[in-house]
Amino acid sequence: MELKLYDTLTREKRVFTPIDQSRVRMYVCGPTVYDFAHIGNARPVIVFDVLFRLLRQLYGADHVTYVRNITDVDDKINARAAERGVPIRELTDETYKNFKADVAALGCLPPTVEPRATEHIEEMKTLIERLDRSGHAYVGHDHVLFNVPSMPDYGQLSKRPLDEMIAGARVEVAPYKNDPQDFVLWKPSKPGEPAWPSPSGIRTPGRPGWHIECSAMAWKHLGETFDIHGGGIDLVFPHHENEIAQSRCAFHTGVMANTWMHNGFLQVEGEKMSKSLGNFITIHELLADWPGEVVRLNMLRTHYRQPIDWTVKGLEESTKTLDTWYQAVGDVSPSPEVDSIFSAALSDDLNTPAAIARLHQMARPPEVGTTFEAGVSMLGDRTGEDAKRYLKSSAMLIGLLGDTASGRKGKAISISGIDQNAVAGLIEARNAARATKNFKESDRIRDELAAMGVVLKDSKDGTTWEVAR
Ligand code: AMP
Ligand code: ZN
Repeated sequence: MELKLYDTLTREKRVFTPIDQSRVRMYVCGPTVYDFAHIGNARPVIVFDVLFRLLRQLYGADHVTYVRNITDVDDKINARAAERGVPIRELTDETYKNFKADVAALGCLPPTVEPRATEHIEEMKTLIERLDRSGHAYVGHDHVLFNVPSMPDYGQLSKRPLDEMIAGARVEVAPYKNDPQDFVLWKPSKPGEPAWPSPSGIRTPGRPGWHIECSAMAWKHLGETFDIHGGGIDLVFPHHENEIAQSRCAFHTGVMANTWMHNGFLQVEGEKMSKSLGNFITIHELLADWPGEVVRLNMLRTHYRQPIDWTVKGLEESTKTLDTWYQAVGDVSPSPEVDSIFSAALSDDLNTPAAIARLHQMARPPEVGTTFEAGVSMLGDRTGEDAKRYLKSSAMLIGLLGDTASGRKGKAISISGIDQNAVAGLIEARNAARATKNFKESDRIRDELAAMGVVLKDSKDGTTWEVAR
């Protein structure tokens, strides 16, 4: 099956052809480790995990190298460590450990390599000196700056007009710059800040700028040119633009990566997530109330390039969907193959909403020998057991339905912090009481559920429940 991916650089969806099929290479910008990662940070992690899984399926698990870095040198890290009175390494180690636990709970595979910026200072200095020697960088006031006018085709990724780039929020005008667009490759460290011997003959110890770390780590682990580079849409400018400038000018190459992929932004209940609005949610907090699998499904219901509005309603819907799917698959083992309509959707620039729609279709109890969507579904030819096995293998390809229905029952599954198994048990007890006309007991149970924040809905088909608002 052909994989098509949208490339931000050329603004088109193209057939993906790896440089070397036996070593498909992807780099994704990872977290700056100073605090718990928020739910927006979870988006690129989940999206590129789906791509990693798909590439492993297409090219073989041993033929894909996925690098996601850890930014462990940064002003925010220095400030937080000082605030908490802990050594920087202690803060970054602890945050990194929490991040790994959070994303594992979201069903994400560990990347092949997770390089830390502070362990690649030598590679960064090598790149800086190369740029300096070839006229693409210069020294000013103990800083090393990238010389943007030395690269005639700078700015192709963001395609921003020059004046906009200069006025842009993250472009700083400073006395040590020859041109306002020039950006920092290396800067001097103030006392107490992390410091390393500087490159380019600078005597004051210093530390790297942000962009150079990714060029250095991608080079070390993936080579001068590789297949896919990803991250959130906010990284297009200046971060990725500057990574391209550094790598292409250091290696004299036409491209840094063949495909540039960016996920859209996440907002919460219709508003930009921010600490001041009080709607800032960490992955850690979310996982206290919702299973990681629900969070993952909820993230994948929106196409990765679209903005996503994160809502409790969406999480509740995702919970119900997973319940239905687990009920449908029971304890079957996955088919060795994946449904072809499902994989076609996924191969079309990771169209997870279409792939999920297909899973819904597959979860409907299939009647043997009937084609429930003429000409579209292959399921009609499969027996019920087979359909379940395909549903399971397809969902597992995107990191869902990895558990069994009975395995899942044994665990406390919570919706908004309410244990679903406990609710199911109480509803059963209430039904038993009602069956023997013990209304005192059934009312008592309803009140107990209400106290847990559960609203019951009785209908002729049985009792369902909702979280009280
Ligand atoms: P940071 O730690 O801020 O450098 O972000 C790590 C990753 O999360 C980057 O790929 C960002 O683009 C991405 N990211 C940050 N905030 C959001 C958000 N609200 N929605 C989607 N992605 C985000
Ligand atoms: Zn980066």
